[in-house]
Amino acid sequence: MKKAIFPLACVLAVALQAFSCKEKEPEIVQQTLTVSPSSLSFEPEDASAKLLNVSSNSTWGVAPSADWIIVDKGSGDGSGSITVRVSANTGEDRTGTIIIKGMNSANVKAAADVTVQVNQRGKKIVEVVPAPAKFDGNKRASTTYQLLIYSFADSDGDGIGDFKGIQSKLDYLDALGVTALWLSPAHPTSSYHGYDVDDYSTVNPKFGTEEDFKNLIDAAHAKGIKIYMDYVLNHSGANNAWFKSVKADPSGSEYRDYYVLSKSPDADVAAKAIDNYAGASSPGMGAWHSLGDGKIGYKGRLHFKVDWSKATKTVTVTETNEAAQPSNASATRWLYIGSVGNVGLYETSTNIFEITLNVDTSWGFLVRTSKDDSWPAGTKYGAKAGKNVITFGEPLELDNSTAADITFGQTTYYFASFDASMPDLNYGPYENASESPLFKEITATADKWIKDFGVDGFRLDAVVWVYQAVIKANQSFLSQWYDHCNATYKAAGHSDDIFMVGEAWYGNHSSDEQYYYKGLPSNFEFDYFGLVNATMGGNATGYVKAVETYINDHKAQRSDAITSIFLTNHDQDRAAEAFGRSLAKEKQAAALLLTTPGKPFIYQGEELGYWGTKAGGDEYVRTPILWDKAGKDCAKKGVNNKVDASMLTSSISVEAQEANSASLLNTYKTFSQLRNTYPALADGKITNANLSGAAIASWYMTSSDGQKLLVIHNVAGAERTTTVSDDMSKPIALLGTASYEGANLTLGANSSVIFQLK
Ligand code: MG
Repeated sequence: MKKAIFPLACVLAVALQAFSCKEKEPEIVQQTLTVSPSSLSFEPEDASAKLLNVSSNSTWGVAPSADWIIVDKGSGDGSGSITVRVSANTGEDRTGTIIIKGMNSANVKAAADVTVQVNQRGKKIVEVVPAPAKFDGNKRASTTYQLLIYSFADSDGDGIGDFKGIQSKLDYLDALGVTALWLSPAHPTSSYHGYDVDDYSTVNPKFGTEEDFKNLIDAAHAKGIKIYMDYVLNHSGANNAWFKSVKADPSGSEYRDYYVLSKSPDADVAAKAIDNYAGASSPGMGAWHSLGDGKIGYKGRLHFKVDWSKATKTVTVTETNEAAQPSNASATRWLYIGSVGNVGLYETSTNIFEITLNVDTSWGFLVRTSKDDSWPAGTKYGAKAGKNVITFGEPLELDNSTAADITFGQTTYYFASFDASMPDLNYGPYENASESPLFKEITATADKWIKDFGVDGFRLDAVVWVYQAVIKANQSFLSQWYDHCNATYKAAGHSDDIFMVGEAWYGNHSSDEQYYYKGLPSNFEFDYFGLVNATMGGNATGYVKAVETYINDHKAQRSDAITSIFLTNHDQDRAAEAFGRSLAKEKQAAALLLTTPGKPFIYQGEELGYWGTKAGGDEYVRTPILWDKAGKDCAKKGVNNKVDASMLTSSISVEAQEANSASLLNTYKTFSQLRNTYPALADGKITNANLSGAAIASWYMTSSDGQKLLVIHNVAGAERTTTVSDDMSKPIALLGTASYEGANLTLGANSSVIFQLK
């Protein structure tokens, strides 16, 4: 049966098929298939669902390339969507695909597959490990070390620092990366510190000979270290031969015009006859002192008569043999005189007050209407300016405005901005200062150091007081001084300009300091440490702007301006005190200083973390370097042995800190070397990077040849995270700790980092 049926059925089927094909051809449709978007991106712990929109006229398949890509379906039909999720990524960034596959079906021809890319950022925390370029030995920066000759290093065992001592420590200074030394005054002096110069033309024999000084300069130059001398132009020492000559013969000395002298200072100042005041009505700082050449006091018996009955009040003094009277305890008028003090007068008739006294006064006397030692305003009567010398028997007009001491003779006074041991020097009218004999003599000494010794520059002391804080006068004087020295320097064969930095320490950057750039190419920015201190307090928001302001203001005064920045100097409490002796803050202050544009100065001992205040004496901020744990070469006698023994222990010594990679000294070395290695740090231009966070100070440093660095400091005492859009793959410096994940940079407490961008 089966055999009989099959051929028949087969024949029928073939016939039907042949009939059917002829009658109706099957329709083949091309599949359409589009997918959007073409890629998806996910964060490391992204829990979101993202959609792929599929547009098609037929069935399609879904094929993720990795199991971390999670889709909600394996296939679909017609238009629809695919929900895509990813699993958390704790590793590197990763990329996968989802292939949406076209599919054949009965009368549909499959479309080409569509591939969608899936990206997911990794959550890999990258620890910052600095890899700075190798230092090639070429010191590019202009970092200066402020050195106190008397307390830096002692070579001969007398306890006082000296030139040979400095020379023996040049390797230390070279390793610290400094390119110049500012030496404290090297001249003969009557003090330990040297700011009262007795002779500008030679060196202090306690420090060595002129030959020793020359040898030091030559040895420093051989290591690429320049020498800046400290020049005190405002005043000399009282033991200077010029002043001694004046004191011996005030009217006849050939050096009379070297000093600011007057027999009637008040009258001369009022008449604007004191060149040193440059028209100012008061000195701002300082006082007049007697040369002692005239007898202004009196010893003997005198009768005093004070006439208060008229508008013009007078005192008449006569020599007498009448009996002396005791003080009137219930007086209403008083004499203030000599060593006696207050003496009550007797009212002998209405508004006439008299007394006879035994007098012994070295300075004269005053009349008072009160015995109150607090000197209430208006109670003190003396003489008018320049009319203060008594002529016996003649009335002298009393005055309670100037109230000058009433004297029995006339002396010569000299002016001193600081104390009596430092008489101010007089360069005459400021416009013509360079014509004065003093200017010619003192510049001749500077010429000697420049020409014969190879000195590279000067730090000028107390420049504000040369003309009593009168800016235009000081600008003019300093220009004349600078131009003279620069001409000498050029004549000695130098192609660059001589360096000179002024101590314009008065007012602040805005009111005074910036204007001193009209006279000198550089001045100390005394506002800088206040900025650092505020920044280290945790608020870094104004740091970059302030630094830019300093630089721009200085450049506005002169195009070759060099902004000199420093933490503290020999006249200020130690920086470490401001930071609460916190090593972390001291390190970061060093990093701030050495990554900020300008010319940084490091003050002797700052690199070791020396602390101390001036409260117990200036010596405590001028402590000698403790070179080794045993104290060899330590120049304690240079500061009269006034040292804080609790600080100067072996652990703070150079020897101990050199051996400790985490020491402050090594932080200074690291950042100083970076500054010498990277032109962008050495003399690049600053622009604000403005990274987020109140404790983040951040800026770019760009060199003229295009090198670009990103400097970031977290000044908070705790970890902070900020967002960095720049490339962080090339860190060149790290203080503390830093790591990043994606664009998020996390800096540890008081941590700093530098990335090289170009
Ligand atoms: Mg010595």
